[in-house]
Amino acid sequence: MMAQSANDVDVLIIGAGFAGIYQLHRALKAGYTARVLERGGDAGGTWYWNRYPGARCDVPSLAYSVSYLPDLDQEWTWPEAFAHQSDILQYQLHIVERLGLRPHMTFNTEVTEAFWDGSRWQVRSEAGGVWSGRFLVMATGTLVVPKTPNVPGLESFEGRWFHTGRWPHEPVEFQGRRVAVVGTGSTGIQVIPIVAEVAKHLHVFQRTPKFSVPLGNRTLTEAEIATAKANYPKARAAHRKADYGYHFDRPTYDLSKLPAKERRRLLQSAWNEGRFNSFLTSYAPNLGIVNQAVNDILADFVRRKIHEVVKDPAVAETLTPHGYPIGVNRLCRDTQYYETFNRDNVTLVDTLKYPITAITPKGIGTANASYEFDDIIFATGYDAMTGPITSITVRGADGRTVKEAWADGARTYLGVAISGFPNMFTITGPGGPSVLSNAIVTIEQNVDFITTMIERMRENGMTTVNAQSDAEAAWMQRVHDAAQQSLYREAHKANAWYTGANVPGKKVQFLPFAGGVGTYEIITDEIAADNYRGFVFA
Ligand code: NAP
Repeated sequence: MMAQSANDVDVLIIGAGFAGIYQLHRALKAGYTARVLERGGDAGGTWYWNRYPGARCDVPSLAYSVSYLPDLDQEWTWPEAFAHQSDILQYQLHIVERLGLRPHMTFNTEVTEAFWDGSRWQVRSEAGGVWSGRFLVMATGTLVVPKTPNVPGLESFEGRWFHTGRWPHEPVEFQGRRVAVVGTGSTGIQVIPIVAEVAKHLHVFQRTPKFSVPLGNRTLTEAEIATAKANYPKARAAHRKADYGYHFDRPTYDLSKLPAKERRRLLQSAWNEGRFNSFLTSYAPNLGIVNQAVNDILADFVRRKIHEVVKDPAVAETLTPHGYPIGVNRLCRDTQYYETFNRDNVTLVDTLKYPITAITPKGIGTANASYEFDDIIFATGYDAMTGPITSITVRGADGRTVKEAWADGARTYLGVAISGFPNMFTITGPGGPSVLSNAIVTIEQNVDFITTMIERMRENGMTTVNAQSDAEAAWMQRVHDAAQQSLYREAHKANAWYTGANVPGKKVQFLPFAGGVGTYEIITDEIAADNYRGFVFA
């Protein structure tokens, strides 16, 4: 494949996060010309944008790192069990330099439009730049398009406001200020304890109460680091086979069959050591994301903990989730979150009871009160998984956009391709394990699959590939069935973004593949071995 100019390449990639970095590396290594277009001023993706106070990854740092640079595994030392945003960003930027990728990346470039002209993808940016690629890879991430509350008045607010997913690069001080945090998902629970320490007063606006369990972050010991470095290849192979893309010891017993005292002892020690999520992060029949009796035990334990920690019983009850299984929206993992509500300078506002009705010039109006703030922090989440793709006008072979093709719900083949959009791939797309995986593992699975496929095409003189519509439909049925086989079938009850229920008007469907990251790889390997069954080549 010959490229015509610097802007016309074989593989055009949108996004410079972990996905774009690896896809660029693989494409260049395979001898293709390639370019990454990135909205941000540098690489990093999620970790470039999410600089809010307390931002860190709740997947262990020893697992949340790339597998394709074994030398780097030995050189790089993660200081903490759960890496801070700045450490992850530094790691990504190091990879970009180490692999010489920067000359192949164009920053500050917001792609707004892409269309298939019959043989190539033509791409335009907001500023009017044009590029083309034989292949287009959407390395656009999953949690990217920020949402603010769907209420009037934000433009009238006289104070400062921030969305956590678009945090400023310069330091933001909250010392002595009246601050609101709206939203109590994984992001809110990280921001709240930190801002509470310095704010004059912090109001926390909570809608659906979440289950949160201790993260258990700590400095890694030298012995732990040495052991990890000696075992990286083995550990990485195990992560790739694990249901959620990171392997660690899971309970082998069924909690519901143990005497109550023993059960409490096991749960308490898991709570103390930051291992509570191990009861949920596998699709084993004895664990809580599948087994209702175990789920009830886990949920009750957390509910009790909230009441134990939070001194005001009314505040504790408002914080306590009811009516949905634990784990069916992303389990939050925190550091001193519930404890924060014992502070005199923190007030919890129940917006389930009294919804936010407006942002006012001075603050926030709810159905029963008005509040004044200097600053509002929106930790209000994203149009997840589909938003990063549908926010770009992407037109396929028949002129339809992805948004139109997905009007009745997102459809992909294996999470990596959309029927009718030839030579276009989605990394961690809806329908793949995506957000139910340690992201780096599924990124590598997807990039490996895509790159091997296009290399085969080159060897066989093929120039276009399209997913078959019936293969896509059958796959989406499998995605649906996988969710039905676990308690994820009840995710909509938690307003979970996994289902799109957090975005007004979005079709509610369980978007990621809940069959397991290891199972997914077995399936995609088998499809590849069967001449990429479900894809049509020309
Ligand atoms: P999120 O989980 O979608 O949480 C958004 C929060 O804002 C929810 O509590 C939501 O309430 C609330 N909200 C939205 N609109 C509202 C309104 N109009 N009024 C009141 N409340 C409103 O978003 P997130 O916390 O940014 O997390 C998204 C995902 O990013 C996580 O689940 C996780 O996968 C990832 N993440 C990971 C980490 C980590 O590794 N530690 C950290 C941060 C984020 P409802 O629930 O009622 O909609």
